Amino acid sequence: MKKIGIFDSCVDTPEEIILAADFVPYRFFSDPTVEIDKVNEHIPPTHCMWTRNLLEQAINGLDKDIIGIIASHGCDRTNREFDIWIECINLDFMFFLNTPLKNDETALKFFINDMKELIFQMEEYFNLKITPANIKEAIRKMNQIRSFLKEISEYRSKMILKGSEFHALVKYAQTQDKDEVLEKLSSKLEELKNKKPFSNDDLKKILLTGSDIDDTELIKYLESLGFHVIIDDLGVGTRYFWNRVDENDEPIRALAKYHLNKPIYSTKFPSYKRFEVLKNLIENYNVEGVINIAQKFCEPVLYDHPYLSKKMKELGIPYLFIEVTYNRESYKQLSTRFSAFAEIISR
Ligand code: SF4
Repeated sequence: MKKIGIFDSCVDTPEEIILAADFVPYRFFSDPTVEIDKVNEHIPPTHCMWTRNLLEQAINGLDKDIIGIIASHGCDRTNREFDIWIECINLDFMFFLNTPLKNDETALKFFINDMKELIFQMEEYFNLKITPANIKEAIRKMNQIRSFLKEISEYRSKMILKGSEFHALVKYAQTQDKDEVLEKLSSKLEELKNKKPFSNDDLKKILLTGSDIDDTELIKYLESLGFHVIIDDLGVGTRYFWNRVDENDEPIRALAKYHLNKPIYSTKFPSYKRFEVLKNLIENYNVEGVINIAQKFCEPVLYDHPYLSKKMKELGIPYLFIEVTYNRESYKQLSTRFSAFAEIISR
């Protein structure tokens, strides 16, 4: 099955367009076991660790089934780095989708036009047709996936599903054939319905937020220290499935509206609205503490931190901000800070 690679820090890429072209959308994830070497020729070490890691993997060689790449306007790092990808990666189809930072009528029109340009270029390059009917069908499929994920996500707060297991499931949904994803999610839901809750006496129920946290081992590490991710606002998490695309609207417009209205990320304007998203989740899920993890040199999340810290204090919720370098050994060096935070929650 041919795949279109997605380089995207905000889950803003309309996967439905890729599905309507009969390709598999394949979101790129970084890999903390990759040694950073070749990328140093192109990007300084003070650049976001996550994007450096992705480029290193891409230079080392992408999956042979990847026939094109769509990069969506995330933060300044992903935008500027895409120019370097064009230089370094030997693929002819590489498209920069200019997803807006604002959410108003002008932004909506702009986004619709850029999606139409994406469709035009895919049709020309791959010699195929992407019809409104096919996009509508893809929207229905993606909405089914969103609904399944939302329902499964709730089993975290029922203390039946581990946060790490759910995180791995969302990653699966973002990289695999969507029909297989639907099958897997459906059987996972059946399995969960028959499972009993695990003991929750000592677990600290946290909301996890921050940069692109895509290493499931990091969530497992938090679990080993007694935390349970009850809810999140991550791209590998709720931001991917919280809302649904309107199936009755014109499909491109519906997709644009969906992406502009989904839970806001630090890279978007006005990013302080993100606190409202977090506040609702904290209150609805009886969260005991918030952990905000930034990838090293992730500027959008660094800018958000002082504001979030102040607002969490006002809300009276324990809050921990941590910067991680993209390697698993470094997680262990943070154990003292995580343990101290667990103590604060217990008081
Ligand atoms: S981790 Fe931060 S700096 Fe890096 S791509 Fe994501 S939002 Fe941008």
